[in-house]
Amino acid sequence: MHSKYRLTEQRLDRVLNQRIRPAVHARSVPIEVAIWNVPGEPVPVADGLAAPYEPVTLGHRWGPPWSTSWFRISGTVPDEWAGLRVEAVIDLGFNVTGAGFSTEGLVYRSDGSVVKALNPRNAWIPVADPAVGGEDFTYYVEAAANPVLCDDHIPTRTGDQPSWLTGVGSESDPLYQLLRLDLAVFDAQVWELAQDLDVLGELMHELPEADPRRWQLMHTIEQALDTVDLQNITGSAATAREVLRPALAAPAVASAHRMSAVGHAHIDTAWLWPMRETVRKVARTLSNVTQLMDDHPGFRFAMSQAQQLAWLKEHRPEVYGRVQEKAKSGQFLPVGSLWVEPDTNIPSGEALARQLVHGKRFYLEEFGVETEEMWLPDTFGYNAAMPQLMKLAGIRWFLTQKISWNTTNKFPHHTFWWEGIDGTRIFSHFPPVDTYNSELSGAEVAHAVANFQDKGTANSSLLPFGYGDGGGGPTREMLARAARLADLEGSAKVVIESPADFFTRAQAEYPDAPVWLGELYLEFHRGTLTSQLRTKQGNRRSEHLLREAELWSATAAVRTGFDYPYQALDRLWKTVLLHQFHDILPGSSIAWVHREAEQTYVAVTAELRGIVEAAQRALAGEGDQTVVFNASPFTRDGIPALGASLRTRPPGRPVDPTPCRDGFVLDNGLVRVLIDGQGLVTSAYDIAAGREALAPGAAANLLQLHQDFPNEYDAWDIDAFYRNTVHNLVDADSLSVEEGGLRIVRTVGDSRIEQLITLTEGSRRLDIDTKIDWRETEKLLKAAFPLDVRADHSSAEIPFGHVQRPTHTNTSWDAAKFEICAHRFLHLGERDWGAAVVNDSTYGHDVTRDVRADGGTTTTVRLSLLRAPRFPDPDADQGQHRLRYGFVIGADIADAVREGYGFNLPERSVPGSAEVPPLVASDNDAVVIDTVKLADDRSGDIVVRLYEAHGGRAETLLTTGFPLDSVAVTDLLERELDPRENTGALQPAGGQVSLTLRPFQILTLRMKRPRS
Ligand SMILES: [Zn+2]
Repeated sequence: MHSKYRLTEQRLDRVLNQRIRPAVHARSVPIEVAIWNVPGEPVPVADGLAAPYEPVTLGHRWGPPWSTSWFRISGTVPDEWAGLRVEAVIDLGFNVTGAGFSTEGLVYRSDGSVVKALNPRNAWIPVADPAVGGEDFTYYVEAAANPVLCDDHIPTRTGDQPSWLTGVGSESDPLYQLLRLDLAVFDAQVWELAQDLDVLGELMHELPEADPRRWQLMHTIEQALDTVDLQNITGSAATAREVLRPALAAPAVASAHRMSAVGHAHIDTAWLWPMRETVRKVARTLSNVTQLMDDHPGFRFAMSQAQQLAWLKEHRPEVYGRVQEKAKSGQFLPVGSLWVEPDTNIPSGEALARQLVHGKRFYLEEFGVETEEMWLPDTFGYNAAMPQLMKLAGIRWFLTQKISWNTTNKFPHHTFWWEGIDGTRIFSHFPPVDTYNSELSGAEVAHAVANFQDKGTANSSLLPFGYGDGGGGPTREMLARAARLADLEGSAKVVIESPADFFTRAQAEYPDAPVWLGELYLEFHRGTLTSQLRTKQGNRRSEHLLREAELWSATAAVRTGFDYPYQALDRLWKTVLLHQFHDILPGSSIAWVHREAEQTYVAVTAELRGIVEAAQRALAGEGDQTVVFNASPFTRDGIPALGASLRTRPPGRPVDPTPCRDGFVLDNGLVRVLIDGQGLVTSAYDIAAGREALAPGAAANLLQLHQDFPNEYDAWDIDAFYRNTVHNLVDADSLSVEEGGLRIVRTVGDSRIEQLITLTEGSRRLDIDTKIDWRETEKLLKAAFPLDVRADHSSAEIPFGHVQRPTHTNTSWDAAKFEICAHRFLHLGERDWGAAVVNDSTYGHDVTRDVRADGGTTTTVRLSLLRAPRFPDPDADQGQHRLRYGFVIGADIADAVREGYGFNLPERSVPGSAEVPPLVASDNDAVVIDTVKLADDRSGDIVVRLYEAHGGRAETLLTTGFPLDSVAVTDLLERELDPRENTGALQPAGGQVSLTLRPFQILTLRMKRPRS
């Protein structure tokens, strides 16, 4: 037989798009419109309703970048439409190719209540059903002229507040044009026909040529198109649907893949728009979602970021009320369990714990829901402490799809157990559809089925559907597809249900799923460990200041009755957690976002310093001696960990550099460091071990500049070819002896780098304090330490532990880890000797190795200090920076852990006279007390979070500095856990309690004081 396949496909495409879809709203009359352009930032709804509107006409151009315009649309329903479903169809000038990156509007009634949103692919307003002829209507549309910034990743300054808003410069040109303003009858029969043809046509397209079903569908579609009267679509739609009915009624085969479709809208908390726009995006999306739930009781929608709901509650309480109602009816499903969807490479362990605490607590308090999923579809890699953190927050399931973005290796599973560094396993799923914004298209459904790695033993997957960001979430068309795909021959079976229902079924179906041990490293976006240094520094400082603020406030509350600042700490934590969002902390947002983030961190720092100082002054008492506080979990300079002492001996001083033939020597009796005339470290000698740390002939603290122009995502990516060329900054402009160290100034291009290198008495750590005036573009600055060490792995600090990664490139998996994340330390060692680098704000590192002619191995550790990507912020990282790093000469893991804490928690002194014994002390350095605070329930109980940091079994005797009545192990939310599932009941005696921890175990203890 001659094949008509291609001809039929083309015919379907043309008739559907040019005739049937337009006929859904064929009967229409124009709507009157008037505009008010907001002169500045968005205004309250009442102001928008009461504004002075000017009439405009179709074709009107509106909206300079980031501006808001209010449209008043009004008209009268024609008499002859009585009894019909009437809608308004509005095209604000949408860019329909990127549903999430365009103008959007929120529609209000005259009383200010919200109807729904207008989005590029969701551009209708329900006016009346059934309509009353002659009835007038008026709506207001708050429309945002958000610029499209993601085209081709061209550097643009549109990503910051425009001149017309800041009051400087001239008005920008409008971005959008009113393209359609119709009041129309909604023809349900024509709309249903469009959905029938859409689903069957896409299914036909995906079926293999050998499948008879494909040819049957072709034949049926052709027959249906034959019955469509192109001059009378309305009149012929029902007949065409009758022709299609048997094809739609044919059931799926018994072995069909089962797909749990979950409505979703991935709304980036800030990214190519400022945070204030996210507040509005959330309101628009959720007004659509709740409206769609009214029409479709079976629709389920999962929402993942508590912060966004908190914004909705504050800014659009009416929409929030609708969301809460829909949560009661089981349609709206809070998931994710986190405050935002954070980056998980960079935040500290305690910060990730608080993401869980505040996320889960919000859902518990506002919705009465104990969330059990972690929903992180878009985050750029997942650290190996996550499984334990999840378990400790009562989370059973983990979902992402981001690892499908790997550019080297395909992840071998879609459903598996993820095992963390401590041995905790979490049942995990990567939706094989490889997107979190599915439209439920035939291509996506077919891809998910073909792609699913666990076929044979498992047959279920999850599919998140709905337009994200500014797209407005799921649409009625998507629900129509889902309904038709529920049981359709040739397709997977699509069931709309909750993530929890999916996970319960998937786990029962596949209890012996394979296991993946360790981090989920994303082979992509490696530049996000380094981009936007000031944002990362703000986070690092805030995390440590929050630790100090809680520690000293709790200590002062117990000892002096200090008023523990519950409210301020709650607010400050949430601010810091918000900025850990996966496009803010990674440095991948527009300039507007990072400028605001830096301002916020300045305010957070000031407030936290104030809290720390107030608590320390309360503890230090009267007097004019110097009381030195040590917030590190390790004794330092004779000052107890987590306590304070009077300064009895002068603090360690930097040793004076001694000139020598080749430069200068820094020698404190522990280590001897040689710095040459160009300021390079040419020797780092561990005196007690009798061992040189550096490879022969190599120089350490060598600054290296690389061209850094990735192929796709500038702020996100470092591509492997960056290593092909390098410029070594070997020449110094000046070298001088100052402030007990050596000051070295270098210039490269227009940039100036000034370093002060010091070695303190009693320390094995060479400190490098760096000031940079950074004027480069598309460059990566590294600091290299070539070690004479043979190590097949490095050990990098991660949340509550460390992870080992290969230094070699044996497999493609090893080779792809050419840029790695470390928190405060990165350690390299042989069996009995090693060295570490520590830092105060660096996350990106790399380790390479080479075997020399002398048979020794050079292992080179480098810190990634700065980048200068130009998209989406064309001025990213330009200007002044200060950062510090240190080189610990002779260090095991215990030393690296201690130095990392110490480097980030400086001693603080206040005048006074009191010694401050710690509230709690551990007698084993392997058991690190990370957090000391008062319980969030304001009971006055003391909460202590500690962990095993060295990677081995550890016993410790905890001693409390207060009368201890009882102690219980809790989850991260400070709720007591069943002792049988944990360490067993803890028996304190005389203010002490002994504990045994498995490698990297995290324990949260709630300590009660006797009731007075
Ligand atoms: Zn995202």
